[in-house]
Amino acid sequence: MNAQIPPSTLPPEAAGATPVMAQFFEAKARQPDALVFFRMGDFYELFFEDAEKAAAALGITLTARGNHGGAPIPMCGVPVHAAEAYLAKLIRSGFKVAVCEQMEDPAEAKKRGSKSIVRRDVTRVVTPGTLTEDGLLDARGSNRLAAVAVRAGSAAVASVELSTGEVECWAVARENLGSALAALGPSEILVPDRLFADEGLNAALRAAGGLVQPLPQALAEPAAAEARLKRLYGVDTLDGFGTLSGAEISALGLIAAHLETTQAGRVPALTAPRRAGEADVMAIDPATRASLEIERNLSGSREGALLGAIDRTITASGARLLAARLARPLLDPAAIEARLDAIDWFVEHRNPRQRLREALRGLGDMARALSRLALGRGGPRDLGCLRDGLATGEAIAALFAEAPAALEAPPPAELTTAVAALDAARHPRLAEFRRLLAEGLGTDLPLQARDGGFVAPGVRVELDQARALRDDSRRVILALEQQLAADSGVALKIRHNAVLGYFVETTAKAAEPLMTSPLNATFIHRQTLANQVRFTTVELAELDAKIAQAAERALAIELSTFEAWREAARDAAFEIQAAAEGAARLDVAAGLAEWAGDVGATRPILDRSTAFEAEGARHPVVEAAVKRAGDAFTPNDCRLDGAGVAGPRLALVTGPNMAGKSTFLRQNALLAVLAQAGCYVPARRLRLGVVDRLFSRVGAGDDLARGRSTFMAEMVETAAILTQATPRSLVILDEIGRGTATYDGLAIAWACAEALHEVNRCRGLFATHYHELAVLEGRLAHVANLSLKAKEWNGDLIFLHEAGPGPADRSYGVQVAKLAGVPPAVVARARDVLERLEREAGAPAHLDDLPLFAATAPTPERLGPSAVETALGDLDPDSMSPREAMDALYRLKGLMA
Ligand code: ADP
Repeated sequence: MNAQIPPSTLPPEAAGATPVMAQFFEAKARQPDALVFFRMGDFYELFFEDAEKAAAALGITLTARGNHGGAPIPMCGVPVHAAEAYLAKLIRSGFKVAVCEQMEDPAEAKKRGSKSIVRRDVTRVVTPGTLTEDGLLDARGSNRLAAVAVRAGSAAVASVELSTGEVECWAVARENLGSALAALGPSEILVPDRLFADEGLNAALRAAGGLVQPLPQALAEPAAAEARLKRLYGVDTLDGFGTLSGAEISALGLIAAHLETTQAGRVPALTAPRRAGEADVMAIDPATRASLEIERNLSGSREGALLGAIDRTITASGARLLAARLARPLLDPAAIEARLDAIDWFVEHRNPRQRLREALRGLGDMARALSRLALGRGGPRDLGCLRDGLATGEAIAALFAEAPAALEAPPPAELTTAVAALDAARHPRLAEFRRLLAEGLGTDLPLQARDGGFVAPGVRVELDQARALRDDSRRVILALEQQLAADSGVALKIRHNAVLGYFVETTAKAAEPLMTSPLNATFIHRQTLANQVRFTTVELAELDAKIAQAAERALAIELSTFEAWREAARDAAFEIQAAAEGAARLDVAAGLAEWAGDVGATRPILDRSTAFEAEGARHPVVEAAVKRAGDAFTPNDCRLDGAGVAGPRLALVTGPNMAGKSTFLRQNALLAVLAQAGCYVPARRLRLGVVDRLFSRVGAGDDLARGRSTFMAEMVETAAILTQATPRSLVILDEIGRGTATYDGLAIAWACAEALHEVNRCRGLFATHYHELAVLEGRLAHVANLSLKAKEWNGDLIFLHEAGPGPADRSYGVQVAKLAGVPPAVVARARDVLERLEREAGAPAHLDDLPLFAATAPTPERLGPSAVETALGDLDPDSMSPREAMDALYRLKGLMA
């Protein structure tokens, strides 16, 4: 190959390299920051520094191969058949891997001359965000590649799930890039190097998780990005995608650039970018997401997280869709209602639900199969997955078409559109593709097309002929075997291997007559092994050539058929993706209905007010744990009102340790997430005015990895809440200020509570150890005390886990210490000390004398409408009676107080 490459394209260190090593240097020069997997026969070899790094990361032996520049070349290798596992390990360790394949048969290279070497080329660069192999992916989780860009002050996040082709695009304010990224949870984030240099942004990117990859700024420039994006989609104009902002085009352009390099020119089958803006999705920052354990619990596992508790989906794509919905709860009540309608229908129609779930069990991952096919990595089994999936889709559609009159209520639009997408009969291209595969694709499918045998008989005449020849010849061979044995009187067999082709084999003892006259005229000696001797005959050699040709021809026809089907899959990509998504939507709705039935969840009521009325609510994860332990979970109510008309806006939650404060706080935040994600909620009733931003600062975890103390981390998050929460937000704060000295902590907690009440005016739950804060109830209009009850009985502490009005009477710290197994003598001593302190200290501080926050604070920056404005906004004069209008006026006047 290097004969064709001008030496000037090779790096200087390649001077004097052997032709094969020169090929390596050339591949390496094109992918300098990736490890090069250099295909040599049955191995991928790594050389030089790559070999040293890979050997260390994989724990494999480092050897040497030949010499370069007077020194041995360090080398290590992995067998091709086991490469996937090694690849996975390297990617997880943070490496990129460039796969440099042999592009031709060694025999073909030989045709160019005995010194020619096999052509090789980089066919793919594997990075965390571009994996498509089932073996490297979590079937029920997503694996997204994201990109961020900022242009003219506005920012955007784009993402692609290469394994399914889903593209998303999100226009956000620059300061919300972190939240948007966290919602996507990408495994790789592309960022123009100029932004990468920005400290603040960099921190936000890192908080989102995933490998951050700086790319040259030039790739994000509008003209270049737009051109690349058009190329990626094969379109002349981007108009079909709506009006994309400059930042969106830049971010999508970065993705296009990265796909161009990593996929070595193979174009994936992508959906049009699905777009969202900040007005569409509840903002949840990474800290909140982590602390509420929405998708994963704090130790990173799916069990113990909200998603794990509610996920009853059957299919992998259903599981991924549910995860995506939970990660991005909606703001538009109508869109949420549509999802709830679908669940509702399945709750009401148990029989179709069960039959659907049964049908879904046989459904493969069509989106991932299609994507692999489009990228040239799929095989006959992926086609099989599509064929069977489309058949299942039709069966599901038939299920819904059955006697609609028998059902009390027809399925809602959310379900009928999903069913329609699944029904191949309604989409000509899908129907044609399905017919093609139903007729042509065999039953016993190999993983790789080159293994052959997957095209059904009767589809291609030439194929049937070639196969007949091949198979006939086999029969002829059997006949020949019998004839040779009879004629020679020697027990012999005709066998086959890759080196010799067909040959006659006999034991060493029996071979004697075949090697002597007259039989040696027929039997030509080929090989002598320890116990066997191998021969051929003229007739056998001819047959061998004929069979080999027929097999080769049959395989060539199969491979071209496979290519044609692959093209057909690409042509129907849009419809196949829609069908896969339809199935996922049905699965999610039926799964959530199933869960609702299991745990007694109900349909939430959503509107644009600022109400939060939860009755008999439970924490889905804690409840499951408590039940497993054989106990019952105590449901609790929580009533907040952002307008401060029907209840407090901010509740101060007190109670001893272990009383259930954290559980109570989180459960209310999770109700909002569930409801707005379009799920039923574990409550007797929930009415919720949609929450625009959710904040949670729960529990204290050291963020040592980022060099912050617990207290510092807590203050950073608290600062974010105080600057960003709006009157439509929901904030839960658990014991802020705990990480510092008592008075400091109390002072900070006090000031935060006042600011949330006066400035942010958001709905909030504020759990605290500082009982001193209880006086705020009397001082601030919309603050109320709540406590989780416990009682002492015979010297023991009993937790009732019941939330009720009023502050906790005391903190029972000593009793909790006793419960925890602190030795009795220490507990007794602590009781003494406590009594003494309480007697001597009297009331701890005269906080009642503090002037109100509003009077001392510099005029606070208003972050949103006041209570009066919010209440005004909620009024609908057209639907009010004069009497109601009068009441409303009084209420508004009251708010001014
Ligand atoms: P706190 O924050 O007050 O220390 P937690 O919320 O961590 O308390 O709750 C402690 C434990 O109490 C939980 O792990 C759970 O086992 C139990 N618990 C909490 N709330 C309830 C409830 N409503 N019903 C039953 N058990 C509960």
